[in-house]
Amino acid sequence: MTDIIIIGAGIAGLACARRLNDAGRNVIVVDKGRGIGGRVATRRAGDMRFDHGAPHVSATGGEFANVLCRLGDYKHAASWVDTAGETWSVGTPGMSAIPKGMAAGLDVRLGTSVHAVVLNGSGWDVQCDEQKFAADRVVITVPAPQAAGLLGPQHPLMAEIAGVEMSPGLTLMAAISGNVPTARPGKAHDPLSSIIQDCSKPGRPDIDGSAWVAQAGLAFSHAHLEEDRPDVAARMVLFLCDRLGVTPDRVTHAVAHRWRYSRVANPLGQPFARMPDATLYLGGDWCVGPLIEDAWTSGTAIADDLLTRTL
Ligand SMILES: Cc1cc2nc3c(=O)[nH]c(=O)nc-3n(C[C@H](O)[C@H](O)[C@H](O)COP(=O)(O)OP(=O)(O)OC[C@H]3O[C@@H](n4cnc5c(N)ncnc54)[C@H](O)[C@@H]3O)c2cc1C
Repeated sequence: MTDIIIIGAGIAGLACARRLNDAGRNVIVVDKGRGIGGRVATRRAGDMRFDHGAPHVSATGGEFANVLCRLGDYKHAASWVDTAGETWSVGTPGMSAIPKGMAAGLDVRLGTSVHAVVLNGSGWDVQCDEQKFAADRVVITVPAPQAAGLLGPQHPLMAEIAGVEMSPGLTLMAAISGNVPTARPGKAHDPLSSIIQDCSKPGRPDIDGSAWVAQAGLAFSHAHLEEDRPDVAARMVLFLCDRLGVTPDRVTHAVAHRWRYSRVANPLGQPFARMPDATLYLGGDWCVGPLIEDAWTSGTAIADDLLTRTL
C-alpha cells in the first residue's frame, strides 16, 4: 500500500508531491494526461511551440518566488518582458518546462485516468481504467467540478465545495508567415482578451514567421464552447488577423483548444477541503484563486497539513 496517492499532476498536485517526497513520504502522482502540468501546457507543431494554457507566471509570496528562482537556476524558467513592459517568468523552452522541473525525481504515472475513489477499510482504493491503487491517504487536485465524478455527487465534501465556480476558455494557436506584425489594441467588445507572440519568449526555437496564442474572452468562450474546434479556430483567426493587421492568407497554422475549466471565477476561500479524519483532501487553484501561485499554495498547504499527522 502507498502512503499517499495524488490525483492530478498539475501545479497543485506537484507542489504537494514535492513537499511530501522531500519529507521522505512515499507518494505516487497519477494523471490522465499524456504530459505533466495540467493547465500549464505547451503544444508543439513542427518547430513551433505554443503555451496554450497559462502564458506566464509571477510570484507574490517569497516561498513561491524561491521556487521560480530555483527553476531558473536549472534553466527550466527565465524572465520575459511582454509588450506592455511587464516582467514575468516563463518556462523554457515552453511553459510545460515549469511543471516538468517541479516533477523531477517524483513518481508520476501519466495516462492514468481515475474513475472512482472509494473507501476500503481504513484506506482508499483509487480505481483507474486498467489498474487500482491502494493508499492510506488520497489528495485530489482535479478542477472542482470534476471531483464529483470521482467521489460521487452525494459525498459530504461536494456540499462543502458547491460554491466554487470555474469559467471556460477558448484558445487559438496560430502561425503567421512573413514579417512579424504587432498586435493593435482591441476595440470595445473585442472577443480576444489576450494576444501573445509566443516566439518572443526566451528559449524558443527560431522559426520562419511568428507563433501567436490568443485567448478568447468570457462571452465568446461561453457562446462557442461546444462548437467544433476547427470552426472556433476559423472564427478566432479572423479576429487575430484584424488585431495584427495581416490578411488571413498569411496564416499557416490555426488550431483551437477548449478549456472547459480554465480560470477560477469564485474560489473556495481556504487552501483545501478535507474529511475530518484527514485521509482524503481536495485541492487546486480553485481553493485559493485563479493563478498558478494559488495552485501551488493549495498543494503545499495540503502537504503541510499531512506532515503534521502520523502517516
Ligand atoms: C488559458 C489559461 C490562461 C491562464 N493564464 C494564467 C496566467 O496568466 N497566470 C497564472 O498564474 N495562471 C493562469 N492560468 C491558470 C493556471 O494555469 C492554473 O491556475 C493552474 O495551472 C492550476 O493548477 P492545478 O494543479 O490546480 O490544476 P490543473 O492544472 O487543472 O491540474 C489538474 C490535473 O488533474 C488531471 N486530472 C483531471 N481529472 C483526472 C482524472 N479523472 N484522473 C487523473 N487525472 C485527472 C488533469 O489532467 C490535470 O493535469 C491560466 C489557465 C488557462 C487555462
